[in-house]
Amino acid sequence: MENNHVLVIGGGISGIASALELANGGLSVYLIEREATVGGYAASFCCKATDVCSNCSVCVVPQKIKEAVIHPQISLLTNSTVQKVSGEVGNFRVEITQKPQYISLERCIACGMCTEVCPTEPKAIYLPSAEAIPFSYILDERLCLRFKGEDCNLCQESCPTNAIDFKRKSKRQELSVGTIIVATGFEVFDAREIGSLGYSRYPNVLTGLDLERVFNREGSLKLPSNGKEPQNIAFIQCVGSRNEEHCYCSQVCCKYAMRFARLIKYQNPNAEVAIFYIDLQTAGKGFAEFYEECKESIRFIRGVPVEILEAHPGELEVKFENILEGKVNRELFDLVVLSVGMVPRKDSWDLARILGINLGDEGFFDTKPLDSTETNVEGLFLAGACQGPKDIPDSIAHGMAAAKRAMEVLVRCK
Ligand SMILES: Cc1cc2nc3c(=O)[nH]c(=O)nc-3n(C[C@H](O)[C@H](O)[C@H](O)COP(=O)(O)OP(=O)(O)OC[C@H]3O[C@@H](n4cnc5c(N)ncnc54)[C@H](O)[C@@H]3O)c2cc1C
Repeated sequence: MENNHVLVIGGGISGIASALELANGGLSVYLIEREATVGGYAASFCCKATDVCSNCSVCVVPQKIKEAVIHPQISLLTNSTVQKVSGEVGNFRVEITQKPQYISLERCIACGMCTEVCPTEPKAIYLPSAEAIPFSYILDERLCLRFKGEDCNLCQESCPTNAIDFKRKSKRQELSVGTIIVATGFEVFDAREIGSLGYSRYPNVLTGLDLERVFNREGSLKLPSNGKEPQNIAFIQCVGSRNEEHCYCSQVCCKYAMRFARLIKYQNPNAEVAIFYIDLQTAGKGFAEFYEECKESIRFIRGVPVEILEAHPGELEVKFENILEGKVNRELFDLVVLSVGMVPRKDSWDLARILGINLGDEGFFDTKPLDSTETNVEGLFLAGACQGPKDIPDSIAHGMAAAKRAMEVLVRCK
């Protein structure tokens, strides 16, 4: 049977790269995303340029997202997940559930009146981010008083375009596609799992993900505890990677930490920045040179921090094993950034069961030995970080490679 439709599961940068490659090749694509907006993690990251570009690749993301959402060959379904898959290569039938979209995308003019009148804290109705695509407010059922049985309709009354409809129900639909690309990405390691590092206990202990979002929102760094500029900052590498549970290297943490360290020094040349590491991942064109430049203004300490304590309010004491000196040292900082790594999504197992694909030892989806896009199910491919840690350029390249393989299979099925 001839089927020119491809399903891409996951609207992060790798799924978007796959969808664009397929659509530009003349195929019709269903791009489904479980959240209300597309772009995945990379859409919430910041540019790390100083007076020169630091090649973090974050700037390529918005353009690709915009291209995908307006592409006539791509049908985007947000708030959607796969429930069931049957059939085989060339003719898969896929059952999708789309959660109710209480705010009409066509009618919402993003005026913000609904958020203003919403009585809950945090707000139950809000714009996820200034760059959100699709650009519309979302309603969180877990926070909304109406879904807790109360008679509140303040947002609906305040909406000048009647965009809010509480009666909307979830929709089920069946799609018929020839091949499927899985691009469901990763999760960030939850730093609370290492209690001794004080994340979520001390306000001035942040993660790399927090830093991405703070710089993206504010453009510079302030101490969460008092809003002042930090003067003495430590980055701790390999938090949640290269341990017994996640023994692999996350590939991206050394790079984002060094780029942030440089940006912080650029914005505040008087700040002291130190990076604690086990060993450094400096592979990639030009990165070894970037590291050499970083060494001129940033301290690199080969040591494993084992504990962070708040010595006095706003003063963090980092206790670490200095590998080179072979002893335990202590140093004081006013801000500590935990460079958290990439781990498999907790729900990977559910999707693997629905699709019939295998998980590898580390919990990412598994592939055949000689092709990092091909799964054990014919016609089903992987793209991006759901297969293992990757940065943005590698996720895009992997997404495009998966699309090429999907196209070849469709041609064979004709
Ligand atoms: C702290 C941190 C900083 C980083 N900084 C950089 C950097 O500066 N430069 C760089 O190049 N890389 C950076 N990276 C790496 C970058 O985040 C990844 O390369 C990129 O996000 C991978 O994209 P992806 O699409 O594969 O996965 P994701 O970004 O995880 O996107 C996956 C998408 O799939 C959706 N999804 C998941 N499950 C389902 C489902 N069942 N159904 C439908 N949709 C689903 C998700 O909601 C999400 O939108 C960083 C990573 C971290 C952790």
